[in-house]
Amino acid sequence: MISVVIPLYNEERLLEGFLKALLEALEETGQAIELICVDDGSTDATLEILVQMHHKHKAVKILSLSRNYGLQAALTAGLDYAKGDWVVMMDGDFQDPPQLLPVLFEKIKTSGADIVTAIRETRNDTFSRKFYTNMFHRIFEALTKGQQISQTGNFCILNKKAHDAILKFSERNRYLPGIRNLIGFNHDFIRYNRPNRLEGESKMSLRMLFSLGADAIYSFTKWPIRACLYLGILGIFTFSAALIYTLASKILGLAPVGWSSMFLAISFFGSIQLTFLGLIGEYIYRIFKEVQARPIYLVKDVYE
Ligand code: UDP
Ligand code: MG
Repeated sequence: MISVVIPLYNEERLLEGFLKALLEALEETGQAIELICVDDGSTDATLEILVQMHHKHKAVKILSLSRNYGLQAALTAGLDYAKGDWVVMMDGDFQDPPQLLPVLFEKIKTSGADIVTAIRETRNDTFSRKFYTNMFHRIFEALTKGQQISQTGNFCILNKKAHDAILKFSERNRYLPGIRNLIGFNHDFIRYNRPNRLEGESKMSLRMLFSLGADAIYSFTKWPIRACLYLGILGIFTFSAALIYTLASKILGLAPVGWSSMFLAISFFGSIQLTFLGLIGEYIYRIFKEVQARPIYLVKDVYE
């Protein structure tokens, strides 16, 4: 069986056509299927349409979350619930095209890979979105050497082994594309041209994208905290040079000049310290979140 996990937040306009396209595309694979539609606390008619589709097609199953938890949590809910031998993660707005599903499935069956991820060869988002996501992918790739993630999103197919491996990760600050790379196994790729969202607006605001990017960087790289250390070491060298300069000035009798250097040094170290206090705060906040161990999502209703 193939399980397809689809997070949905206020997608009433596209939903019916999308599910139909999905059912059609999956028929080609000749496998039993379940479409796990995760309603991430939608406030429009998403849930009603899902329920109608559920009555018409028994493959359509619904996990209705108790409120909006965000994309990563919604995907997690679907992954926890999926029972298939293969599990697909995809967006519900046609940006991960349903007709690629047979291609993904063929690839995972024939290539011996445990994970097949779709790489976006081109993408049709707005300029600013493309700019920020490209920047994030560059930084993330540079910081986590050797991890192929550039231009990949959630769209992928996993076999049972890879699916089980991902389920072992219980962290609350989640970045699933990162986890998917972290688990290892045989990872293969297909390439596609990512179309624009067919209708409606993106449900991931720029703020949500930034916070997802920050979660990814804090939880998958050591670089923010390492930067503290490096700047600290630089500070020690600067301070040593200043010490020599001060002593020499004193000995040579030039001591009273120095208000500017004093002022600069104080403000320089002051600002570095404040910056890094803030940065350490980010870590403490994330540690606090993990220690609280709140559930990642709560399910209100299940339609099987
Ligand atoms: N989504 C979700 N919860 C949210 C935001 C988005 O389940 O809080 C779903 C959304 O319905 C869509 C997928 O996640 O199926 C991708 O979202 P979107 O297309 O808005 O993001 P983008 O493609 O613009 O990054
Ligand atoms: Mg989209």
